[in-house]
Amino acid sequence: MPALQIHQIPVLSDNYVYLARDPETEATAVVDPAVARPVLEALDRLGWKLTHILNTHHHHDHVGGNLELKRATGCTIVGNRADARRIPGMDVGVAEGDAVALGAQTAQVIEVYGHTVGHIAYWFEDSAALFCGDTMFALGCGRLFEGTAAQMWSSLSKLRDLPGDTRVYCAHEYTLANAAFALSVDPGNPALRERAGRIRALRADRKPTVPSTLAEERATNPFLRADVEDLKTAAGLPGGDAAAVFAEIRRQKDEF
Ligand code: ZN
Ligand code: FE
Repeated sequence: MPALQIHQIPVLSDNYVYLARDPETEATAVVDPAVARPVLEALDRLGWKLTHILNTHHHHDHVGGNLELKRATGCTIVGNRADARRIPGMDVGVAEGDAVALGAQTAQVIEVYGHTVGHIAYWFEDSAALFCGDTMFALGCGRLFEGTAAQMWSSLSKLRDLPGDTRVYCAHEYTLANAAFALSVDPGNPALRERAGRIRALRADRKPTVPSTLAEERATNPFLRADVEDLKTAAGLPGGDAAAVFAEIRRQKDEF
């Protein structure tokens, strides 16, 4: 089966909106349309026709374009069944383990509560693509607005277990600031130092640092490494429980 075609649209100050198209059937989804106009322009330019909106969570910078896109294209809006009242125009409610069909392609729904209670991710296994909203960022993770640190650690642990070649399509370009924090808690990690150098060069050229791969995140993202002894020590919790170490690293990032 031909792989999903993915097109990245930078919007607002640092959001990424994604178009994902099944080349066989031409079914096309937009993931987390913060705004409608740039999405409609990109569809026009590419000659793609929108059939679905996939929402990861209810924040305005992820659903702000829902209703205008639905009016303009008649697309179907997919979101967490448990968040039906917070996702504008939602047509299809899904839950952990459900399969979402996009033409001949299939996304698995992964429940990843923490940033919000209701956040989900869409994993297109055959195309090795993960749309994870504000749960995992390149070298970072989302703030805990609604869920607990324990929930977020368990969510990130699920994502961490996906294949290493999975491309991580997160919803924000926060990587440069994330790299500075990551280096402060994991300074002895050579893969992180090397990656931080590459990120600085990309951003100096105004190029995106997203997507990354899950293998890169596993090796360098401090929020996926709360069970590594160096990070436990940096958090002041040597030999500590991973969820507690994660909570402490997340707290330090909030104050960084
Ligand atoms: Zn958010
Ligand atoms: Fe966001």
